[in-house]
Amino acid sequence: MLILLKKCANLLTLIANETVYENKSFLGGQMVINIQKSIRQKNIKKYLNFVFEKLDIEGYDAVYKVTNEKTDLLAIISQHDSTLGTSLGGTRIATYNNFDEALTDALRLSKGMTYKAAMAEVGLGGGKSVIVVKDIKDKNEKLLRSFGEAVNILEGNYICSEDMGCSPQDVTIIREKTKYVVGLPHEKSSGNPSKFTAWGVFQGILATLKKLYGSKSIKGKKIAIQGLGSVAHYLIEHLFWHGAELIISDIDETKLKKFANAATIVAPEDIYKQECDIFVPCAIGGIINDETIDQLKCKAVCGAANNQLLEERHAEVLKDKNILYAPDFVVNAGGLINVSFELDKTGYCPKKSREKTDKIYTSLLEIYKIADQNDISTNRAAIKLAQFKMKAGIGKRKSNLYFHH
Ligand code: NAD
Repeated sequence: MLILLKKCANLLTLIANETVYENKSFLGGQMVINIQKSIRQKNIKKYLNFVFEKLDIEGYDAVYKVTNEKTDLLAIISQHDSTLGTSLGGTRIATYNNFDEALTDALRLSKGMTYKAAMAEVGLGGGKSVIVVKDIKDKNEKLLRSFGEAVNILEGNYICSEDMGCSPQDVTIIREKTKYVVGLPHEKSSGNPSKFTAWGVFQGILATLKKLYGSKSIKGKKIAIQGLGSVAHYLIEHLFWHGAELIISDIDETKLKKFANAATIVAPEDIYKQECDIFVPCAIGGIINDETIDQLKCKAVCGAANNQLLEERHAEVLKDKNILYAPDFVVNAGGLINVSFELDKTGYCPKKSREKTDKIYTSLLEIYKIADQNDISTNRAAIKLAQFKMKAGIGKRKSNLYFHH
């Protein structure tokens, strides 16, 4: 594998100036895309009470607007790219100001999943779905079942799982109508992904320290964590026992209490200004932006939050400021890696998940090297490496998918 990645690195030096990605879109927090112009044509199909409107969007395998008048379902299912395997991604249940906003979210998130899956070599493609509700209280069993039926109509071309607004219990209801689901709360499932996401972020922190200081020792290193939710909860344990000096913040004070004796607590707005070795975003996206970048006094950013960069150009600004950025979609892939083993013939195996999550360490060091060699941002290097893997078929799934539920 190392030899293969070395080959990739050499090849990437050669293709550094080649435009292999679309300029109009990126993996930052927002995607500048004119939705109406992007939809080249619509193709409408009806199945019982469902209307599947296929929106032909450049660069996407298939994007469907799905409605069902009887159940009030309005959903978008986006299959971004299945070059390396079936499109998989969570189902977000949320309110949006308008349809274009929901579509943008689904497109952006499914594209992010493609690169995350490619980098993690899980033999899966990028997908995502959103169920649009007027109010989150409108979520009900009939709606979830109806969405399950819609997923089933796609005959396994898209696999769903939990996401924001969609709990493992909700996924259980979706499962009543389709088997194309992962992450169910039962013994054959891969369980809570946060443990594995945290382990992957920990590997990312080790690699980042290695790059910064030539040693991956955590002892005495100042680590500032934003957000003490499911992922940070596990991550803090690893960091504490390895001797880190922890600085923590959360908008929810109850989350801070548990760690009050083991860490320095700062106000949420002060976390950016902390003089530290690594800033670890584990809360929300878009937190690396024009306003926060000027405040940063860290040597590196490496955390779990999705879409940390508000825009891709913020990766360049970090580079100019000599702040090392660990691309989020590489670092936070532990949860996806974990769930991917649920689809193996032999069934879920936590040991395999851990071993694969360990590889985030070498993967990240490789990205840092490619970025240095090509004088590009680490985010750009990671996108290029993911695209290269897709082009070369590295990590492509060779076996069938098995649903053990
Ligand atoms: P979570 O909802 O359990 O925790 C988020 C925490 O951040 C909460 O305690 C919340 O109070 C806090 N928070 C929210 N806004 C904040 C702010 N402005 N300042 C400080 N704290 C704030 O989420 P999680 O599952 O721990 O995930 C954390 C991040 O990692 C999210 O961005 C998520 O999308 C991403 N991620 C999670 C996983 C996973 O396995 N859970 C996998 C990949 C990516």
